[in-house]
Amino acid sequence: MIGDIRYQMPAMVQWLYRGVTWRGDKTRKVAYLTFDDGPLPMVTPRVLEILKHYQVPATFFMVGENAERYPELVQMVIEEGHKIGNHTFNHLKGIRVTTKDYMNNVAKADVVLQGTRLFRPPYGKMSGAQKKALNERGYRICLWDVLTHDYDAAYSSEQMVAIVKRYTRHGSIINFHDSVKSNERMLAALPQVIEYLQNEGYVLETL
Ligand SMILES: [Zn+2]
Repeated sequence: MIGDIRYQMPAMVQWLYRGVTWRGDKTRKVAYLTFDDGPLPMVTPRVLEILKHYQVPATFFMVGENAERYPELVQMVIEEGHKIGNHTFNHLKGIRVTTKDYMNNVAKADVVLQGTRLFRPPYGKMSGAQKKALNERGYRICLWDVLTHDYDAAYSSEQMVAIVKRYTRHGSIINFHDSVKSNERMLAALPQVIEYLQNEGYVLETL
């Protein structure tokens, strides 16, 4: 079956673009739910409630300035058994700034993100030099294997569930956002996504 690069990068692209994690463990039926751009009081606690209901863990790539504003949400995410990752301090697009500025911004987020060594570049974009610098500082750079497009109002929750069903495979990292833009459509899709994955025999883990 031919995939659609809007939802999943071809194996060749994933292979060529190295030094990043596109997929987790490919040897077993495991998938990883990830949420970017939070934490936010109107969205993140509702995601946590759903995850708690199904007893599944997830990984949250947080924006430093949100984490600084809502430290109690950072704490809540960690206490409920989830992992946090760095998503820069203010959702910086890598290629637009120098590597030095980029790394300073990442380090600034690090302070409020308890020194996590998981990193996801906003927009999935960074220069080769930035990728190298991140790897040298011990960051594990995680992209994704399945893009739900939850941030795009053109996608209904039904379409998001359909994307997950069509593209999830062993080790898939599934990308969602606990952001204002994704809010209701993402929250409507999430229980269906988890139920589907569990029914298919996937174990959900953190990165
Ligand atoms: Zn983002």
